[in-house]
Amino acid sequence: MTYLDVILPLPLKTTFTYAVDDDMAKRVKRGCRVLVPLGKKKHYTGIVVRIHQDEPKGYEVKYVFALLEEQPAVLPQQLRLWQWIADYYLCTEGDVYNAAVPAGLKLDFKPKTETHVRLTSSYRDEEALQRVLSSFKRAIKQQELLMTYLQLSDFFEGNPREVSKQDLLAHHHTSDQVLNALIERGILETYPFVVSRLANDKRKVSDLKSLNSNQQQALNEIKQSFAKQPVCLLYGVTSSGKTEIYTHLIEETIRQGKQVLYLLPEIALTTQITERLKRVFGSNIGIYHSKFSDPERVEIWNKQLSDDPYLIILGARSSVFLPYQQLGLVIVDEEHESSYKQQDPAPRYHARNTALMLASMYGAKTLLGTATPSVESWYNATEGGKYGLVTLKERYQEIQMPEILPVDIKELHRKKLMHGHFSPLLVEKMTEALRHQEQVILFQNRRGFAPMIECHDCGWVPKCVHCDVSLTLHKRTNQLVCHYCGYTTPVPQVCPECGSQDLRDRGFGTEKVEDEIKAIFPEARVVRMDLDTTRSKTAHEKIIRDFEVGRTDILIGTQMVSKGLDFDHVRLVGILNADTMLNYPDFRAYERAYQLMAQVAGRAGRKGERGLVILQTGHVDYPIVHQVRDNDFESMVQGQLAERQVCHFPPFYRLVYIYIKHRERRIADSITAQFTTQLLKVFGSERVNGPMQPAVARVHSLCIGMIMLKIESTASMAQARKLLLQVQQQMMQNPTFKSVQIYYDVDPV
Ligand code: ADP
Ligand code: ZN
Ligand code: ZN
Repeated sequence: MTYLDVILPLPLKTTFTYAVDDDMAKRVKRGCRVLVPLGKKKHYTGIVVRIHQDEPKGYEVKYVFALLEEQPAVLPQQLRLWQWIADYYLCTEGDVYNAAVPAGLKLDFKPKTETHVRLTSSYRDEEALQRVLSSFKRAIKQQELLMTYLQLSDFFEGNPREVSKQDLLAHHHTSDQVLNALIERGILETYPFVVSRLANDKRKVSDLKSLNSNQQQALNEIKQSFAKQPVCLLYGVTSSGKTEIYTHLIEETIRQGKQVLYLLPEIALTTQITERLKRVFGSNIGIYHSKFSDPERVEIWNKQLSDDPYLIILGARSSVFLPYQQLGLVIVDEEHESSYKQQDPAPRYHARNTALMLASMYGAKTLLGTATPSVESWYNATEGGKYGLVTLKERYQEIQMPEILPVDIKELHRKKLMHGHFSPLLVEKMTEALRHQEQVILFQNRRGFAPMIECHDCGWVPKCVHCDVSLTLHKRTNQLVCHYCGYTTPVPQVCPECGSQDLRDRGFGTEKVEDEIKAIFPEARVVRMDLDTTRSKTAHEKIIRDFEVGRTDILIGTQMVSKGLDFDHVRLVGILNADTMLNYPDFRAYERAYQLMAQVAGRAGRKGERGLVILQTGHVDYPIVHQVRDNDFESMVQGQLAERQVCHFPPFYRLVYIYIKHRERRIADSITAQFTTQLLKVFGSERVNGPMQPAVARVHSLCIGMIMLKIESTASMAQARKLLLQVQQQMMQNPTFKSVQIYYDVDPV
């Protein structure tokens, strides 16, 4: 008897075992999709991970319903990667399967079809055709339509081409009637033809741009580094031409018949890079991210399994899950970006680190590129010695790095000299830029109108009913919105506590910036790019395109505008308030703030003239402000490394956050405390930090407890995970433990 171990798309700890009959046993392979029963009523599409003869003991084995196809849908390397992710990020393989595979492959996938037309079998030879062509007499239209079909299909050339019904009717300017008559006479027939959902890009490709000498040298150094080590960090200032260097590496890789994965942290970025790469590589590029429809994703997946796969995949983090047959190179652009980490739900994987593992499975090289390396990658490329390091300090065409002018807004507010949230200097420079038809980017890392409203008389602040956070005011929709759970409620007219009508907003987000600009610069064409304006699949493309071609003067945005976008005519960047970025209660806040500011500043003056950045802050004397002004990444990173070594943070320690959630605070807290006690016994007080509550301690009506586990990076993480799971096992003996939700966040960002 043959048995299959199957992964189901469910958060289950184990695989399930099913029996197959002899016939199926001959056809099934690892990675095949099978339809299997679970429980009394349900059935699922599972993936076969093991085929064996060990009869399971202790329960009655069920049979597989169906083998969905003989070709595996998942490659052996993918199964290995799933296993690694489940082990490393402390989740189940079912979680990984769920995230990795498009829904269409977990159900029955229906290919997209078009109605095509062909001759019926009795008329497919010339003799029969001649006979029928001369038989039409008065049915001229039918005769013409048949002739059109014969032309379109190149019938007389042999091997007829596909003709769609739509094309045929369009060419003949006729209706269904004539065609139906031919079908009734048994001459033509229609049939469903499977067509691709993937765009077929047939544009003419152009040559690679030649690199300047700095870029050429960097490329050589990267190749030398790859000869010694599989991973290299390219630290190149903004607009140094990193993308051009990637393009050359990609070209060399595909010339050797190998595939490339090019990862980007943000879907909004794919538009520009896609355009740049398609100019060179044409139809060799497949794009993959979550804004594609599920059927489109299934088609890309299947194409990657076929004998004609895309050689280059450009995509956001989920593209690490695609099948690769011959991976040769992985590029992780903007490697410092925290959006590479999936927060919720499991698997809480980091796409950069997962890509490194993926590459190593194929013996492929990985290039991490950025103008502001993450502290971890910098360490790995310097003292850590794990990666090669190549630096590129010059912008393309020796354009100077932008001039950054810090402006003390505390002082200006006190003297009542601010125009809303705009300093006189910013207003002056914006006026100048607009007069010269130059563009402006304004950065405020908060969406909505204001982070909160408050009753001026009694201090009442509206809070989310499900979470411990104040609600953000969105004026366009006249609603209060929770940015954690999405709860919305209309803005109250009066304070429900004291009846006062004096409700005021506090702080400011992108909506308010937009309103203030419209008041100061009524003529300017302004557009806002944040989560609220980019919900549809093509919204961000339109915003970026409009700005590129100069249909917009001022682009306001959240961190979305900071990432890798390449605009030619941006003279001025305004950072409206640097201080909000510094106040996060997180050991990465400093690093993050530096990266955001340096990146958004880097959008200024990329072509032609030197750009200008106005950096508004209440703390002009803070070291970070000086570091951003002087483009002094290295002093920032050295400072952070020193601090992290002392405080036991990454890259010297690995972190695992343990979250415990329950509807009742009392239970969440008590379990968190007990869990902490057990962990202390195993790991010692140096490594366990807790029990505590996260900054937002209730989300979606669940109260959250948290424990921080710190493991030396020199210690065995596998061992630590094993001990952690043992403690969890012990906790299971406590009956209340079963009522809490518990999960781990490994390497949290
Ligand atoms: P980075 O990725 O480092 O920010 P980019 O690759 O976007 O830099 O380059 C900045 C701009 O300079 C782009 O518009 C790019 O097309 C142009 N550029 C860079 N290098 C070259 C080159 N060797 N030849 C032509 N244009 C280049
Ligand atoms: Zn009140
Ligand atoms: Zn909420």
